[in-house]
Amino acid sequence: MLKTNNLGYPRIGALRELKKANEAYWAKKIGQRELLEAARIIRENNWKTQREAGINLIPSNDFSFYDQVLDLTLTVGAIPTRYHGFTLEGPSSYNLDLYFAMARGFQQEGLDVTAMEMTKWFDTNYHYIVPEFVKDQQFSLTSEKVINEFNEAKQLGIITKPVLIGPITYLLLGKEKASGFHRLDLIDRLLPVYEEILGKLAAAGAEWVQLDEPFLALDIDDRTRQLYQRVYSRLAAAAEGLKLSVTTYFESLRENAETALALPVQALHIDLVRGEKQLAEILPAVPAGLTLSLGVVDGRNIWKNDYETALQQIKLAVDALGSERVWVAPSCSLLHVPFDLDLEDNEQSLPAEVKNWLAFAKQKLAEVTDLARLAAGEADAATQARFEANKAAQQSRRTSRLIHRDEVKARVKGITDDDATRTSPFPARKAKQQARFNLPAFATTTIGSFPQTRDVRKWRADLKKGVITQDEYDQFIAEETERTIRLQEELDIDVLVHGEFERNDMVEYFGEQLSGYAFTKNGWVQSYGSRCVKPPIIYGDVSRPADMTVRWSAYAQSLTNRPVKGMLTGPVTILQWSFVRNDQPRSETTYQIALAILDEVQALEKAGIKIIQIDEPAIREGLPLRKADHKAYLDWAVRAFRVSSSNVEDDTQIHTHMCYSEFNDIIEHIAAMDADVITIETSRSQMELLDAFADFNYPNDIGPGVYDIHSPRVPNKEEMVKLLEKAKAVIPAGQLWVNPDCGLKTRAWPETKAALEAMVDAAKTLRGVA
Ligand code: GLN
Ligand code: ZN
Repeated sequence: MLKTNNLGYPRIGALRELKKANEAYWAKKIGQRELLEAARIIRENNWKTQREAGINLIPSNDFSFYDQVLDLTLTVGAIPTRYHGFTLEGPSSYNLDLYFAMARGFQQEGLDVTAMEMTKWFDTNYHYIVPEFVKDQQFSLTSEKVINEFNEAKQLGIITKPVLIGPITYLLLGKEKASGFHRLDLIDRLLPVYEEILGKLAAAGAEWVQLDEPFLALDIDDRTRQLYQRVYSRLAAAAEGLKLSVTTYFESLRENAETALALPVQALHIDLVRGEKQLAEILPAVPAGLTLSLGVVDGRNIWKNDYETALQQIKLAVDALGSERVWVAPSCSLLHVPFDLDLEDNEQSLPAEVKNWLAFAKQKLAEVTDLARLAAGEADAATQARFEANKAAQQSRRTSRLIHRDEVKARVKGITDDDATRTSPFPARKAKQQARFNLPAFATTTIGSFPQTRDVRKWRADLKKGVITQDEYDQFIAEETERTIRLQEELDIDVLVHGEFERNDMVEYFGEQLSGYAFTKNGWVQSYGSRCVKPPIIYGDVSRPADMTVRWSAYAQSLTNRPVKGMLTGPVTILQWSFVRNDQPRSETTYQIALAILDEVQALEKAGIKIIQIDEPAIREGLPLRKADHKAYLDWAVRAFRVSSSNVEDDTQIHTHMCYSEFNDIIEHIAAMDADVITIETSRSQMELLDAFADFNYPNDIGPGVYDIHSPRVPNKEEMVKLLEKAKAVIPAGQLWVNPDCGLKTRAWPETKAALEAMVDAAKTLRGVA
């Protein structure tokens, strides 16, 4: 049989046990011993699950209390000086308090230390803790977690394959905290720690070690390619008695293939889901003695593997290399998919027919084993039966009426340039909108949500549980909305919002009302630390059977003479924060969503809502990992937004909102979206993010956020005036709006009122009327 290889397993626990234990520990409800025990049970279950599933190379050290990059930072002792007041309990312990302080900051017992920065793990929705490096950075083995966890599994009779992020990827994931050096310059100081770890793992009885180097599948320069050669020669020499497996994922090797294949290691893993075509290119160049691990089972999405296609790939590799030198594997760590499909039993939100097309982490292990057996021609009757069932599931997906709706496909096909273009260019629209709304200079608005207090969440939970009726819930939402409208009037805000009290989440709320969507009960995926998300599943052609937001927007508008802004989530963001179809291009799905949003835009317009915001905070995170692919993506992403927003009257004002930093490299595409107003997050960068707009001579209106909504701190008027003066220095005053950085749903009422009051004052000061 072919060997099966797993790269990593979800570690939050089947029922989010780790989340619960971590949060209880942080709240001092349980002690360290109980937390460690909860974690140990998760690891034991994971290892046993994988052994039972027939995985040969089972990972260890893929467990993490918070984040695997932070684990490594502690392992190699790259602890920023601001944490040096915390005690190091020695390498054999987890150093939990220091570790959590680095992850979350620490504000107690007279200490006030900020957390390390967090950012997205490649193009996933997982966030890692960014290592911080200084020029004279020293490294030393500070935590033996990787060795301890190997020994822990060994005691259970399982010889695991310890997983480490490779040294080059680790440095590249970090950030220089001072100038005058590049983080890769630190490599020679870092390598001895890796050598020491490899020595200890060999002594402990490890056979294989997995080193993750996803940067080998990204854009890197010649110098980095050469460094790969040198670094791995050194590690190979130090790894006496050990075999090294270098792992790449999320992209194809492309121009780095030669470098990757020349590394003096025993195995190389490639992602054949994202990089389907690379197998044929690579096979002829695989040197003798190198084993190829084939990532054929999608670790990023929840679809059942298509056995026939995967088997073709495996066969190609086996024919070229022999079955000894081929492993079957998921494409990447299974961290990015939910735990176990068997826990789903809600026919209402996840129909059986749809469920039959899915596989979560546990099911993917079984797929890997099935494929290995089938490819080796060693399938027993049960495996053979599963193969037949797999073919039937694929066939049902190709033809199911639940998925395929001709009228939706035809509508997307029929989209014209006209559908993606407003009637008049911006200056003409602006004049008509000004005539209609007569807004003052430095018009004030907010981004949409108002505080989602415990009360609001309780009403929603009670409705779900059936404790209250729909009528009672609606009554409550109506009261909250009215209160919020009155408050905004009192504050003298110019463009009001209804407050989004009826929404749980900006994607789920729409997904629940669109057809082609399914939902899980327990499909949690780690986003960061103890935070998990439950992305909805787009399985079929998307359409909008009925109004989604008109009721509450129209109600809010009926309460006031000021314009109320309708509030929608954009097509790219809806796509990006869902599990998406793999049976058609992402662009196709996005256009379908765009048309559904357009229908809603037009319904709002008809209901008298003439300012409509379409949020696209995720447009940038959808950027492909390789620069060469950016343009194609941005072209369809921008067009999809335009499809959702162009077919409206000239005097209907379209807003969009984005809350991410760095617009520099995509500013022309942001401009091409042609929203009448864009609100962005800028306060934490002291308006510096506006420079991209200024340099580009961005023509439409902009609302740069004047205060940070992530913190309860109430800024005063003067601070905001200062920020607005800064904005005015680079953007013509006639283009500027005044608003917070983002929605206010995580804030409490008192600070919200105080901050908005100061914000309106600041706008009036700029108008010269206060
Ligand atoms: N309209 C949304 C809100 O205010 C926008 C949230 C976001 O940008 N993430 O909550
Ligand atoms: Zn935002």
